[in-house]
Amino acid sequence: MNSPFLKDFKNPERYQFEVINCYSCNSDKYSFFLKGEEDLTGKEGEFQYVKCDNCEMVYQNPRISLDQIKEFYDGEYIAHRKKKNWGVLTPLYEWTMNKHDRDKEKIVAKHIELNNQTEVLDVGCAVGTFLLHLNKKYDVKISGVDFKEGLEYPDFDKIEFYEGLFYEQEIEENRYDAVTMWHFLEHCYDPNKSIQKAKKVLKKGGKIIIEVPRLDSLTYRLFGRKWPGVQAPQHTVLYDKKAFITMMKKNGFKVTTYLPYGAFPAYFYIFSGFYFRILGKKLNLNRIIFPYFLGQLILTPILWFQKYLNLSMQTVVCEKIEN
Ligand SMILES: [Zn+2]
Repeated sequence: MNSPFLKDFKNPERYQFEVINCYSCNSDKYSFFLKGEEDLTGKEGEFQYVKCDNCEMVYQNPRISLDQIKEFYDGEYIAHRKKKNWGVLTPLYEWTMNKHDRDKEKIVAKHIELNNQTEVLDVGCAVGTFLLHLNKKYDVKISGVDFKEGLEYPDFDKIEFYEGLFYEQEIEENRYDAVTMWHFLEHCYDPNKSIQKAKKVLKKGGKIIIEVPRLDSLTYRLFGRKWPGVQAPQHTVLYDKKAFITMMKKNGFKVTTYLPYGAFPAYFYIFSGFYFRILGKKLNLNRIIFPYFLGQLILTPILWFQKYLNLSMQTVVCEKIEN
């Protein structure tokens, strides 16, 4: 269905949209919030985000159909993650990618005991480097879920891998000590179903750790609709702290920790937000990698305090207290 709301938006005819209700409270009353675009890759299209009149959750509505969203997750996106040769900057690039996994580990290790009896499931695991890092360091048992076709990556076969939609997988229930979702939930077409699925596969007392971009953050205030967290149409929900916590509680989880940061580098949002505002769409990592690291060096003193500045991300740790 093509909504009348989209009449002023520039979209190819072939895009199909569906009108939906609020993910959190199911209300069908909403107001316009912003017009988002795919600034990162520069793909065409304009997408509407609305704010629920009842609970204030911000979400994409109407949204592009599930069949059509797949073309936005193309080879370019995956190629970047697999690329290894960045010339003289290769060591710095690798260090940055490893640091991302180490920062995820730091958050997880604070809340879960990690040893050879621990079972961790990473939803949206991509090429699996975070899981492999945990396995190497703590000998934990690792499982992952993602959409991947023909993926070859070193040691990927060490992961118990499930391919496809998370909530459609047949995974043993009451099994995992931890389920992690690093930048998965803001892409999800049915966040409640995913959270419920995570609850099923977790043991009682097990923890779910979720990181998403934070709408009520400094970088959103700076960049508005050019905020990298908009990333339309892939991002289905733009969570602020209230909406994020409410959703976890509604799904029967006990929220034990809320962090105004994540493992994802806040600096990426600062750099790309400025880029989208000033230079425009399409961030070519091959071309910008030098200024990227230079900017990071300049901002280092600020980034030391990123955990306290509410720059861009948020993470919740929740416990499964019931079956
Ligand atoms: Zn609502």
